[in-house]
Amino acid sequence: MSENYDVVVIGAGPAGYEAAIRCAQLGLKTACIEKDKGKDGNPTLGGTCLNWGCIPSKALLDASHKYVEAEAHFSEIGIEVDNLSVDVSKMIARKDAVVKGLTGGIAGLFKGNGVTALYGTGKLLANRQVAFVGHDGEEQTLQAEHVILAPGSVPVAIPPAPLDGDRIVDSTGALDFESVPARLGVIGAGVIGLELGSVWNRLGSEVVVLEALEEFLPMADERIAKDAQKMLTKQGLDIRLGTRVTGAEVIGNEVVVQYQDAQGDHALSVDKLIVAVGRRPFTEGLLTPDCGVNLDERGFLYVNDLCQTDAPNVYAVGDVVRGPMLAHKGMEEGVMVAERIGGFKPLVNYDTVPSVIYTHPEIAWVGKTEQQLKADGVTYNVGSFPFAASGRAMAANDTQGTVKVIADAESDRILGVHVLGAQASELIAQAVIAMEFDASAEDIGLIMFAHPTLSEAIHEAALSVSGHAIHTINRKKK
Ligand code: FAD
Ligand code: AMP
Repeated sequence: MSENYDVVVIGAGPAGYEAAIRCAQLGLKTACIEKDKGKDGNPTLGGTCLNWGCIPSKALLDASHKYVEAEAHFSEIGIEVDNLSVDVSKMIARKDAVVKGLTGGIAGLFKGNGVTALYGTGKLLANRQVAFVGHDGEEQTLQAEHVILAPGSVPVAIPPAPLDGDRIVDSTGALDFESVPARLGVIGAGVIGLELGSVWNRLGSEVVVLEALEEFLPMADERIAKDAQKMLTKQGLDIRLGTRVTGAEVIGNEVVVQYQDAQGDHALSVDKLIVAVGRRPFTEGLLTPDCGVNLDERGFLYVNDLCQTDAPNVYAVGDVVRGPMLAHKGMEEGVMVAERIGGFKPLVNYDTVPSVIYTHPEIAWVGKTEQQLKADGVTYNVGSFPFAASGRAMAANDTQGTVKVIADAESDRILGVHVLGAQASELIAQAVIAMEFDASAEDIGLIMFAHPTLSEAIHEAALSVSGHAIHTINRKKK
């Protein structure tokens, strides 16, 4: 059987499903192919983000944060709680219900917008034909005017720590522990390792994080990363930098992890081990040799700034192409491609992609770090404001962290904003908007912010660039 479409999208993660929905909104006859099955074995939409990534991890981060608040901080504000306990299976079941609700929501959005969902695998042939094999064995060749490839990414596996699906797991397995492991090892102090390490640490695990690099979060602002490391260590994450894992073996009821650091070889025994050493583009079974799409030297699908591959009218978006592996980056690429197919001319601004690490406090930033600007020889001014001086943060009993605004020394244009603090993930959106509109630090200083809010810390940090902050002592008085 063969069917014609204006657009066929392969992959229904955030990059693919947003592309498909926007195409359908623009009146294009659109199909989206998705191979994934959810935890319950039924076909599911939403990709890594909704099923095994952003959403389930945040459900567990939010739940475990509430537990820590109740356990460690409620009494500070006059609330006594007796007999506090964690019901892991209930917490996991709620997480699964959130996932189910959202993935079902995408199915509803597909239906409502007229996107044809095809459950099975898609393979790109020559001349924009797509071979589809359904989960039920049904085979179809689809002919498309345009094809959007959005197959996403999968966790990187490392030979020294082979997964066994029980004691040695990747990020997906770490979302489904049946009980709180007494001793947990995490390989990799990246975003995923820190978030999942935090979840189980908060619920009671003794967590050791083994990280090969000497520096903690090298992509973040140095000062912010140092402060964050101290705070996470104080919470109980034992972060061992400069340690390379060389082996991991399940022996009886435990995992024995071998690692090396500057002092030599070590062994660490844990009950569970999470391998969180990054993700790689997933292209298995996606391409035929004559489809015209090429890979780059790192295995990503090669695209230009407009997400065009080397094959005419074939695009690729999301984790499978260069750039940060973030859901919102993929979503913007998906929408850009859809709108270009629809005849519009949008662009993605890769300079304003926000990064967030959902630990507590959260770490979020957009734009350049001080170390990047120094390396580029750019002169800049810095303004900062500690949440310890924020009325709202004090009222909320959550005063850790700082906002830092970096502005060009000559033009005062904002070059980067870095937030360590409660709700940094929400606050950073203000910085993204400011940077998209080419705001100067002075512009932000001239805007009125509601009082008392955490957002005022952004206002004060922007004022502090020129020494005008009110609620902190300015070093540069003007
Ligand atoms: P994916 O979401 O991976 O979706 C691709 C889909 O394509 C998959 O469902 C796959 O089954 C399907 N597919 C692949 N090949 C085929 C084929 N041949 N035929 C049919 N279907 C196919 N990002 C954030 O921005 N914020 C976060 O808080 C965040 N937290 C994360 C937490 C964890 C634990 C993990 C693992 C990731 C997290 N991420 C987060 C990253 C985020 O999940 C990814 O950046 C995002 O899902 C990428 O979207 P995508 O659409 O490119 O790919
Ligand atoms: P990210 O790519 O942000 O998810 O981070 C993954 C982290 O895992 C990186 O900081 C790597 O340095 C780290 N890593 C990779 N391989 C190893 C290893 N064998 N031992 C310890 N850390 C590792």
